[in-house]
Amino acid sequence: MLEKRFRYDTSGIWCKGNTHIHSTVSDGAKNFKEIADLYASAGYDFLFRTDHRVVSESAKDEGKYPLLYLDGIELDGKDETGAAFHVVCLGSISGISGKTEDFVDDLKLVRSQGALTIMAHPHWMGNSFDDYKRWQFDGVEIYNHVCQWLNGKGSGFVYWTEALKNNPEVLGFCADDAHLTTNHPGWNGGWIVVNVKECSAKNITSAIRSGNFYSSCGPEIHSLSLAGDELHIKTSPVQFVRLVGQDWQGIRVGNFEGRMMTDLTMTVPVDWPFVYLEIEDGTGRRAWTNNLFTSKRNIQ
Ligand SMILES: [Zn+2]
Ligand SMILES: [Zn+2]
Repeated sequence: MLEKRFRYDTSGIWCKGNTHIHSTVSDGAKNFKEIADLYASAGYDFLFRTDHRVVSESAKDEGKYPLLYLDGIELDGKDETGAAFHVVCLGSISGISGKTEDFVDDLKLVRSQGALTIMAHPHWMGNSFDDYKRWQFDGVEIYNHVCQWLNGKGSGFVYWTEALKNNPEVLGFCADDAHLTTNHPGWNGGWIVVNVKECSAKNITSAIRSGNFYSSCGPEIHSLSLAGDELHIKTSPVQFVRLVGQDWQGIRVGNFEGRMMTDLTMTVPVDWPFVYLEIEDGTGRRAWTNNLFTSKRNIQ
């Protein structure tokens, strides 16, 4: 049996990015230059290109950008049960058909090429918990900004926590799914922040794989460290801090009087099946770690 160990190493630098955007290559309104300029202005260091059914080949792009582009794609279609999926795939991919009717074959091919697969906006899709279980995606979108805008179904939390029961390694992602059209103008509503030695494509990919990142709709995590079972956390000013486990399991620090915290220590219940950190600022915006513990051998 593999030993559980603390997932996080926050001794490097933090790089902000988004794992889900659309450009004029599919149904987005802005080209890669316009998107890069916009996101760089909000402090982003990297973006994954995840246009619908079109493989990204950023290495062949001669454009100069103020941030790093990484390859991805968003696949959609139905599996053999008839359930419909959108799946964000992070990584360089080749040889897929990209046709909706070839979804299952494409998904298998993408996985064989080592790409990370993320169940996109499951509440908006009307997915079931079994839909996750059949495919065991590497991650689940816990917040999707455009779906929140479209009909308030941006949250994927119940899917993620349900998935964590059987797969404590499944990662949670906040994402924009930005289209930047007149009808869907939202962006910089949900993102991830990875901790890396330097902000290179290789390091970012490795940090995402090992879960050495947090997801946010606002607050910042500055450092996370564990000594024994004491978790030391430094953050931007937050009103509530929670350790969240399975079902009713939870420990919280906070108040309803508006006092803010930036530095605290909490005792982590190491015997819970999984436990992640949630912080909440004075406006209700939240950020989340992945499961604080991993059993994977190859972490950063
Ligand atoms: Zn989608
Ligand atoms: Zn999308």
